Amino acid sequence: MTTEHYDVIIIGTGAGGGTLAHKLAPSGKRILLLERGGYLPREPENWDSREVFINDRYLSGEVWYDQDGDAFRPHQQYFVGGNTKFYGAVLFRLRERDFGEVRHYGGLSPAWPISYQDLEPYYAAAEQLYLVHGQAGEDPTEPPRSGPFPYPQVSHEPRIQQLSDDFEKTGHRPFHLPVGVDLNESDPEAGRCVRCDRFDGFPCLTDGKADAHVRCVRPALRHDNVTLVTHAKAERLVTDGRGRSVTEVVVDRRGARETYSGDIVVVSCGAVNSAALLLKSANDQHPNGLANASDVVGRHYMAHINSGVIAISQTPNPTKFQKTLGINDYYWGAADSELPLGHIQMLGKSDRNILRGGAPWFAPGLALDYIAKHAIDFWITTEDLPHPANRVTVDRRGRIHLAKTYHNLEPHQRLLAKLKELMGGLGCHDAAIPAWSILDQRIPLAGVAHQSGTVRFGDDPKTSALNVDCRAHDVDNLYVVDTSFFPSSSAVNPALTAMANALRVGDHLLERLGAHVTAASRAASDGRLQEVDR
Ligand SMILES: Cc1cc2nc3c(=O)[nH]c(=O)nc-3n(C[C@H](O)[C@H](O)[C@H](O)COP(=O)(O)OP(=O)(O)OC[C@H]3O[C@@H](n4cnc5c(N)ncnc54)[C@H](O)[C@@H]3O)c2cc1C
Ligand code: SF4
Repeated sequence: MTTEHYDVIIIGTGAGGGTLAHKLAPSGKRILLLERGGYLPREPENWDSREVFINDRYLSGEVWYDQDGDAFRPHQQYFVGGNTKFYGAVLFRLRERDFGEVRHYGGLSPAWPISYQDLEPYYAAAEQLYLVHGQAGEDPTEPPRSGPFPYPQVSHEPRIQQLSDDFEKTGHRPFHLPVGVDLNESDPEAGRCVRCDRFDGFPCLTDGKADAHVRCVRPALRHDNVTLVTHAKAERLVTDGRGRSVTEVVVDRRGARETYSGDIVVVSCGAVNSAALLLKSANDQHPNGLANASDVVGRHYMAHINSGVIAISQTPNPTKFQKTLGINDYYWGAADSELPLGHIQMLGKSDRNILRGGAPWFAPGLALDYIAKHAIDFWITTEDLPHPANRVTVDRRGRIHLAKTYHNLEPHQRLLAKLKELMGGLGCHDAAIPAWSILDQRIPLAGVAHQSGTVRFGDDPKTSALNVDCRAHDVDNLYVVDTSFFPSSSAVNPALTAMANALRVGDHLLERLGAHVTAASRAASDGRLQEVDR
């Protein structure tokens, strides 16, 4: 068996890996992308809520185990583009203060080894790459920006505009969510998005959602020096005798063993799978798992404390594209709370199947159609804190175990109470079902959409697995660029930070490889790709 050699191997094609591939593609270096999934089929079922939410058509079907050893099916999907194929594309920058130490009800959120200013230019570039639409200056917690959003905000539909006006009347500062979407409201012919109600949790049939496959992997593959191998699950990383460098990536490709080697190996499998891969790669030089002299690999698993909240309004809600409004007035606290509570945003519009998919949330017999027609759907997020006992481990049979106890629940309860109070004041009751005027459900362990933190970066090799460049402290040619590098989770959605960081690490790798991507070659490449893309 021969081992193919590349300059760079990137394992995983989601927000981190896909973005890095796009950054490195014009360098001319030989780049290999390994992806355990295939291409997500484009089919009518992409937009069928029964298929997506009840029949779990696109879930991996794999089984993980909780801290009591009970099996559960994680909401994981493995396709080219990773979880961004399904994401809501709300693309936030972390707040400036999120990069420092922050005190919460449940303990301390640690500081990052880089500042907001270090990442700002990369946030700007990632917003450009992922077509982020927004309106600077509205969000009261927005960090300083070097320029406006690359595209204008996505407008509210009438019911959401009314909600926004109502929030303003109560002294809140609602803002347009930053959304990554190929939409041009002044010229509908110019964008792929048809502004439908299948956005959050569904793949997009028209390629209108700015996901890592459409925006990064597909254009990267138009470069002859970039290769993608699908259905290639990285099983193990092998090192040289001293354990200082990865020499081989061992892959299971539809049951067959293949090996690849690269001068640089970048792991970007998502926070749970990246930790699992490093742990499974233990050897004599790395007995606790690869790059794990610190014993932090797998630890500090964070997932955000999230709840879906349905407010049932007296007025019907015919909104299609609902993910346009956010509230950050409670992000850092409230009149009755010195400590942070979190973030509120709209969810994609629910229908009866989406609501039923949330069972046992709903008692049987409730009029789901009625509720769906009147529902205004929210998603609330509180910062999850990194705790060493919350961790990914792998057993002797290679099975993934996920231990998780939440330590910051009080602010989440307070935030929920704030939203309920607000919605009650805005006429969101219904005489026929008074007890159900506001329904909420915490996202369970299986909801791993916002996973992060398991291979944290930092200055100190004793307390972090990666250095500031996201290179393993212990292994010279090994990098990690998915959300596992996060030392803290903030309370805003994670993907843009993974994308921006991948661009930052990309600059470091280009320098290390002695590769030059001049502004001109990047612009020429991007121009050519956009032409082909449309
Ligand atoms: C329904 C949903 C809605 C979301 N909405 C938002 C949102 O609005 N805004 C936001 O910021 N975030 C959102 N997220 C989260 C966002 O999608 C993730 O934060 C982001 O995709 C993480 O990027 P990543 O690179 O860490 O991992 P992923 O994007 O998950 O990429 C990991 C990749 O690695 C591959 N892989 C895994 N293991 C292996 C292996 N052993 N070998 C080879 N390949 C492997 C996977 O198939 C995948 O392609 C949402 C997620 C979901 C599921
Ligand atoms: S709203 Fe636009 S981007 Fe989202 S799924 Fe519909 S067409 Fe695609």
